[in-house]
Amino acid sequence: MTNQTNPEMNSFNSLLNSKTTQWHPNIWPPFTQITSSSPPERVISAKGALLFRDNAPPLIDAISSWWVTLHGHANPYIADAIAKQAKNLEQVIFADFLHPQAELLAKRLHGATGLERLFFSDNGSTAVEVALKIACQWWHNQGDSRQQIIAFENAYHGDTFGAMAVGERNLFNAPFEDMLFPVSRLPWPATWWGDENIEEKEDLVIDQLEKLLEKPTIAVIIEPLVQGAGGMAMIRPQFLKAVEQKVHQANSLLIADEVLTGFGRCGKLFAFQRAGIQPDLISLSKGLTGGFLPMGVTMAKEKIFQGFMGDDPNLTFWHGHSFTANPLGCAAANASLDLLEKNPNDYEKFESRHLPYLKDLNKNPKVVKPRLHGTIAAFNIEIDGPKGYLNSIGKALKKYAIKKGVFLRPLGDVVYLLPPLCITDQELEKCYRTIHEGLKTL
Ligand SMILES: *Cc1c(COP(=O)(O)O)cnc(C)c1O
Repeated sequence: MTNQTNPEMNSFNSLLNSKTTQWHPNIWPPFTQITSSSPPERVISAKGALLFRDNAPPLIDAISSWWVTLHGHANPYIADAIAKQAKNLEQVIFADFLHPQAELLAKRLHGATGLERLFFSDNGSTAVEVALKIACQWWHNQGDSRQQIIAFENAYHGDTFGAMAVGERNLFNAPFEDMLFPVSRLPWPATWWGDENIEEKEDLVIDQLEKLLEKPTIAVIIEPLVQGAGGMAMIRPQFLKAVEQKVHQANSLLIADEVLTGFGRCGKLFAFQRAGIQPDLISLSKGLTGGFLPMGVTMAKEKIFQGFMGDDPNLTFWHGHSFTANPLGCAAANASLDLLEKNPNDYEKFESRHLPYLKDLNKNPKVVKPRLHGTIAAFNIEIDGPKGYLNSIGKALKKYAIKKGVFLRPLGDVVYLLPPLCITDQELEKCYRTIHEGLKTL
């Protein structure tokens, strides 16, 4: 730039002080139909559980900014780790080189998950794609032509093609339906407080799984304990355990999509650990970097990795991303793991913080199917109209809550709280109080 004053900088500063009342002419927002939504508000900064807007009161980020912010916004320890790394090594090609942050992270995640090999990618969808591709090619490398992949109804595994294929077929991927590979489906035996038929529901699904597994199967993919986008639908650890047993008895592979549930969200470091199982492949992202930077990893058992060794180039896993093992992402992830190791109570004890509030909220007649795993609390709103994502009752509650200073983003008639670990008791109490009051107005 030839000017001494930087015009870009001036317009950036002017944006900091202007109010948004319109959609930006150059931005295409995610998961949004502009014609039926109000324009987004501008966030200037954030700290802990709070989002700061211009000339408006702070908002409690009760959903961890789409489930990624783990310890809290702008956590100084992670911010410092990234800044330090950025001044030292910001990026290097990962095919011919290693770097210490990646080595350290691989070693630590091996220790934490029990799986030996770590493959880096960029987000949750790619972490799932990589797990699926590894599973498919592992069998292929053995000259085994099995085809079946088993997934669950209402699953969500991301928005790339492979991830869409294993996810529930719905409004979101209907235009691509013909291009998605076929998947065998199992019902999801969701449960909640006071659910009396759960064992029967689970047994039926396990029977169906057993039948499907009579056909040679590449892998079964599951969101352990909680289906996130599918409506914070929770299963019991016992069911997860039963699935693992059947999959391994049938000599197939189990892929745990821990993109949402990983890093303490379900009360243990990983959700699969609450069921005492060992998946063959694990997809991780979201909380991996504490929510600071986009990064995905896929963990694999050593025996799977060994299936790709050999002189024949066809055996190689020919997959990689430009930003593989980005040092800034690795530094953030290592810093986030430091915090989790230092304060395990922050996630292990979170369920007991939700519990009294959710019990109290459950007295509200509009609250049905309350459920809780670790840091994630959810319920359905009692409604007459169509259930599911497109029901507008959640939108009404969201609008009310934002006015009161709480950011919620219900999934249709499903309301949930998934706050960052740093949320204070006062802030958590305010979230529940706001929901309680908000339900009265609906
Ligand atoms: C969010 C999510 C994904 C996709 O992750 P992105 O980073 O958004 O691509 C995959 N699986 C699960 C369980 C998720 O919650």
